[in-house]
Order: sequence, then C-alpha cells, then structure tokens
Amino acid sequence: MPDRGGYIIRTAAEGVEADEIREDIRYLGRLWAKVGKRITKSGTIKAVYSEVSHYMRTIRDLITPRVEKIRIDNKQSYDEITQFLEDYIPDLKTDVELYLGDRPIFDMYGIEDEIKKALSRKVKLKSGGDLIIDQTEAMTTIDVNTGGYLGSRNHSETILKTNLEAAKAIARQLRVRNLGGIVIVDFIDMIDPEHRHQVQRTFNKVLEKDHACSATTDLSPLGLIEMTRKRTRESLGQTLNDPCTVCAGRGDQKSAERVATKYFEKYYM
Ligand SMILES: [Zn+2]
Repeated sequence: MPDRGGYIIRTAAEGVEADEIREDIRYLGRLWAKVGKRITKSGTIKAVYSEVSHYMRTIRDLITPRVEKIRIDNKQSYDEITQFLEDYIPDLKTDVELYLGDRPIFDMYGIEDEIKKALSRKVKLKSGGDLIIDQTEAMTTIDVNTGGYLGSRNHSETILKTNLEAAKAIARQLRVRNLGGIVIVDFIDMIDPEHRHQVQRTFNKVLEKDHACSATTDLSPLGLIEMTRKRTRESLGQTLNDPCTVCAGRGDQKSAERVATKYFEKYYM
C-alpha cells in the first residue's frame, strides 16, 4: 500500500501469476478510492459499497485479457458493465457488445446445448470412443472407452488414437466442469510401452496450460493416472444441479422385485 494498510491474500490465490495479483491490487486501489469519495460526499446515511449482482461478479472474477468479446442482451446490464470496465479495468481491450436480436441469446450461441453437454455423464469423442465422468464426494473418476466398434486390424493403433484424443478432451472437461480435488483417469489398457509413454506425455503436456492442475502420477500398470486439481468455487454440476431427491444422488432405486416382495410380505404372509 502506498500509505497505510495491506492485503490479505487468500489460499485461492495459490499458484496464480504475479500479474493477476498486481491487477487485483490495482483494481482494489481504484475501488477504495471510489468508496472514499462516496464517503466524503455522502452527508446522510447511505450505502457506499455493497456486493455486486451476479453478472457483475462474473465480469469481475472471470474477465482476463484473453476474453475477446462479451455479448449482453440487456441494456441496463450492458450500461453497468461498460461503466464498470471503464472505471476499473480501463486498459482492457475486450469488445463489449449489446445484443438486441429476437432470438434468446443462449439459444443463438448454443449455450444451452453446451451446458447440457458439460453436465452430461458421457462425453463423445470423435474417434468413436467416449469418456464417462463421475463425480463423488471423494473424487472424480474419468473412464475412457473405445466405441463399440474396434477395427480388427490395428487394434492397438485404435486404442492409442482414442487415448490420445481422450487426454486432450479430459483437459478441457476438467476446466469446463471446474472439477477439483482428486481426479483418477482410467485410460484404455495399452500393451506397447511406447504407446503408454506417448499418452502420458500428451496428457502432461495438455495439463501444463491448466494452472489449477498439479501432481500427476505416471500411468500405473492398470492404466490409471491419479492427479489433483485445485478446488476453486463449486463445480459446474454442483452449481447448476441439486442432488436427486429420490435416490439422494446414488443413481439407483429399489428394484421392482424388492418392492413387490415387500408388498407380498405385508399383505399375504
Ligand atoms: Zn436419482
């Protein structure tokens, strides 16, 4: 601080770039100056600062120089956001655009579909295989499967291709779903040591860009890789879904036989 005071840096800041922290400090400085002005100006009792709305929080927390464009479908929010960016992040080059089309904006840009995909258990891969992603309290497991069809020739090549594609898809899913904590990936078994090596290398490489990722183990003899990913906020699933009230998230229910047996016991025995 130039004169007095200081900053509390929370554990959520672990591993972030120094530039991000510097940007936060600049932002807080400008905010503090604004609040100070409001305090001196306000003769009566009134709020000089309060936590902002959801969309403003999104702008504040998620905007980075890498965001190219923001489209907003509401004039009032648009004004508020442009004003905010002017006041606090004046150097930002991001293009902010007001969308006034008739088609709902989420529909227009396929957002609903993307959300649906990002929440579904299965992720299809181009090579025909898929990922099955399960999130439990203890960990997230990601199972890589080949598609139903496995060419009779070049069996091991197909497996390698699927695993390589899966490695890249998994890196994306971890970020999109904001999965944190322990993650275990079960790649399809590979016999060729060179193939195993290649998958391991590709996976490490795609994860390098993800600052939240750390501590990846080597591919185990069973084809597993263990890793941890920093928890920041709730996962997408936890944000957008509630646990099922019927099965409490277990994903199953009493079998018909069990219900029937119980019924017969009660009334006929
Ligand atoms: Zn259920």
